[in-house]
Amino acid sequence: MPTAGAGRALEQLAATDPAVAPLARLQAVALDAAADPSWERSLPASLGPRAEAGAPRLHGARLVVDSDRLRALFVQLVAALDAAGHPDSARLRQLFAAPGFDPPASLRASLVHDVPALEDMAARVAATPGVLVVVAQAAALPLLVACGRRAAATLDGRWTLGYCPVCAAWPTLAEVRGLARELVLRCGRCGTGWPCEHRRCPFCGHREQHSQRYFAAAHERETRRAITCSRCHGYLKVLATLEPLAPSEILLRDLESLELDVTALEHGYRRPEGLGWSLALTVESAPPPRGWLRWRG
Ligand SMILES: [Zn+2]
Ligand SMILES: [Zn+2]
Repeated sequence: MPTAGAGRALEQLAATDPAVAPLARLQAVALDAAADPSWERSLPASLGPRAEAGAPRLHGARLVVDSDRLRALFVQLVAALDAAGHPDSARLRQLFAAPGFDPPASLRASLVHDVPALEDMAARVAATPGVLVVVAQAAALPLLVACGRRAAATLDGRWTLGYCPVCAAWPTLAEVRGLARELVLRCGRCGTGWPCEHRRCPFCGHREQHSQRYFAAAHERETRRAITCSRCHGYLKVLATLEPLAPSEILLRDLESLELDVTALEHGYRRPEGLGWSLALTVESAPPPRGWLRWRG
């Protein structure tokens, strides 16, 4: 199964590369959780096209999650950070165990990329501001992958915008796929793939008139490169693939190609912050099961 395989590969990567170990361990835990099909129960019945032009499928959605299960996932994630020797793990464990911690609110903040809300929560336990952003991203992964799976059947290939048609994230990477060398943007949050014209920047829409500049290791030019935009100074990693990458493989290949990010950043190129669309959505806590209510009564 691709998820389990890539999860193991992420753990192996964590064992050999200390620079990416905390993130790889978090993603491996999140991918394990994503293999549980019951995340589908949190989704609205339909994730079809939205009426508003440019709105991704999650815009306006009402998600209903099992709050205890989500809290358990946050606790599992912090255990993974602990195993990686992260200095903030004890503070985060304290935060997730506190009665005031609201798992659905944290999930919502991650889905809509409300970084200040997550930083405020981290500040309550004096944790490094950015650490909860990363942990909450991992906690949102199982639900987002379920969204991507459900929406996939309703995507028709006509989405021409640069951000993800399901969750509004900017593409994590692009695939140049198969012999046809079709360019497909891939979302690292929900796994969705959508087509893009060659030489067109997904971030600002600029079309390069001539060949596109790129960075690549000399022996990998045809298989792995970071293409750059002369207008917005964005960059995008492009990998040659034979078949569509599984969502888990997108995360793995992203972490395995960090040297391209480093090179692009050193040369003044950046990926855009935040999402491509200002998402509005609600995340509610599912009511307790009926049996529990009867027992209480
Ligand atoms: Zn997405
Ligand atoms: Zn651009």
